[in-house]
Amino acid sequence: MRKKIVAGNWKMNKTAAEAVALAAEVAALVKSDVPSNVQVIMAPPSLFISEVNKATEGIANLSVSAQTCHEKASGAYTGEISAPMLASAGVPYVILGHSERRQYFQESNAQLAAKVDAALENKLTPIFCCGESLELREGGEFLAFVAQQLTESLFHLSAEAFGQVVIAYEPIWAIGTGLTASSAQAQEMHAYLRQHIAGKYGQAVADACSILYGGSCNAQNAAELFACADVDGGLIGGASLKAGDFITIAKSF
Ligand code: PEP
Repeated sequence: MRKKIVAGNWKMNKTAAEAVALAAEVAALVKSDVPSNVQVIMAPPSLFISEVNKATEGIANLSVSAQTCHEKASGAYTGEISAPMLASAGVPYVILGHSERRQYFQESNAQLAAKVDAALENKLTPIFCCGESLELREGGEFLAFVAQQLTESLFHLSAEAFGQVVIAYEPIWAIGTGLTASSAQAQEMHAYLRQHIAGKYGQAVADACSILYGGSCNAQNAAELFACADVDGGLIGGASLKAGDFITIAKSF
């Protein structure tokens, strides 16, 4: 059975006090309301990871994640954090290749392949984001484009290493816009990506891979999206900033 995962990407939001308060609220609700087979993840700004991580102590199905990491282990890269640093701080997950990182920080598929390697070498689970622009969707090329993102950033991995990766399909046109992919659109892409993975690694590896949906997923539409056969959870932006909404999503399987 594939892991069900709901991950909240807080992006560049919350002050220190607000982050601690949100983490505490989420932790209390995960304990009381979320089934143990659903893994809940909070990805706060890196400055607050250690504080937020404290709130996850003793709750097996609650973890923290970083929002990115550098591909190098250390060095003169002002402002960056590395995978060994995250590992040393007890961080189990790292989001890689979010469309905002691709757009504003010019992260390429090749650079993301190096980041994935750095994460895996340090026993971090990458949550690898992929997705197409509105232009690509309207042009009809979107399935092949997203499959190519996987090919170029992940398909150099061994089957064993690939098995450690979580994928998040996030159509760029649906992120932060209030436009959600329909459940049919999400299922079409997720099934296509699973087939693409099967073509490279075989059906068993593809069947074991958790593929999350992201893009204006909220407390109202999560249940319909999560009911799709190939949707294994969500990567949540705006709706992860309110504990009640976030936990409603985590209970939507
Ligand atoms: C995201 O940025 O990963 C995301 C899914 O954002 P939102 O839920 O706000 O669309």
